[in-house]
Amino acid sequence: LLDELQASGLLFPTGVDGVYGLDARFETVVQAVDDLVTREGADDGAERVRFPPVMPMGQLERGGYLKNFPHLAGTVHCFEGDERDHREMMRRIEAGEDWSDTQAASDIAMTPAACYPVYPMLAARGPLPADGALIDVLSWCFRHEPSKQPTRLQTFRMREYLKVGTPQPIVDFRHAWLGRGTAMIESLELPYHVEAANDAFFGRVGQFMADNQKTQELKFELQIPINDGEPPTACMSFNHHLEHFGELWEIRTADGALAHSACVAWGLERLAIALFRHHGFDIEQWPASVRATLWP
Ligand code: 5GP
Ligand code: ZN
Repeated sequence: LLDELQASGLLFPTGVDGVYGLDARFETVVQAVDDLVTREGADDGAERVRFPPVMPMGQLERGGYLKNFPHLAGTVHCFEGDERDHREMMRRIEAGEDWSDTQAASDIAMTPAACYPVYPMLAARGPLPADGALIDVLSWCFRHEPSKQPTRLQTFRMREYLKVGTPQPIVDFRHAWLGRGTAMIESLELPYHVEAANDAFFGRVGQFMADNQKTQELKFELQIPINDGEPPTACMSFNHHLEHFGELWEIRTADGALAHSACVAWGLERLAIALFRHHGFDIEQWPASVRATLWP
């Protein structure tokens, strides 16, 4: 599939697995899926916020990402030396030698999931309103997992709705989106199934956490067959965090309890690839009903 996507010009290779340029057709579809998500959620009155693809290192530390997913995190390093250090760096680059120790860790890291910067934003506002908070967020995300599968990118756009508040509305929010999300994929005429899943927690303790997450049904994925001969690809996820982020960030409900949260996430490039895979590389030839859903 990667070869076909590159041959058709939809993806441009950069020489690094999981990092591609995207052409105008691809971007048109990404934008249309993003807009469809906006229309699906329009009646809920979510607050729209956008963060850059980097976040303060301190937020990644406190948000637990380095503890649970050290193998996926990306940190930003920069040159802070003087002219002599610069000459040495250039000498090594020209000689093809390792120059990584000329770079120093900065105070920012790559954003790993769109909702990560939202918790500190909410925490800084003080106790939540009585009906909680509903946030619409989109971010370029980074995960260090180079792969030859076009559905596994090192940087990709994740659109999310995140709800934070008292326990029952959080359960209801995720339940409602399980219904709406599957209806949305049906309207795009894509094959799919939904199943309990887990995040890629690191290490042996992580395996225990992953098993727990799955048996407690804290994460569901909507999976679409995309890569021939491979397991289907998670294109949406529905995550119930219980009070995990409320506790990490000290987010309180109006009555002072720790807040619960849930998010529903769309992988925009994955959904674009799913559409190209199932309806063909020529958007003009897609079923009229699918085109009408995407471009009403
Ligand atoms: P999660 O936090 O559940 O792992 O990711 C949320 C959503 O982001 C997934 O359902 C998927 O659609 C998208 N996503 C996760 N990892 C990747 C990836 O490596 N490449 C792409 N294109 N999308 C991803
Ligand atoms: Zn999230």
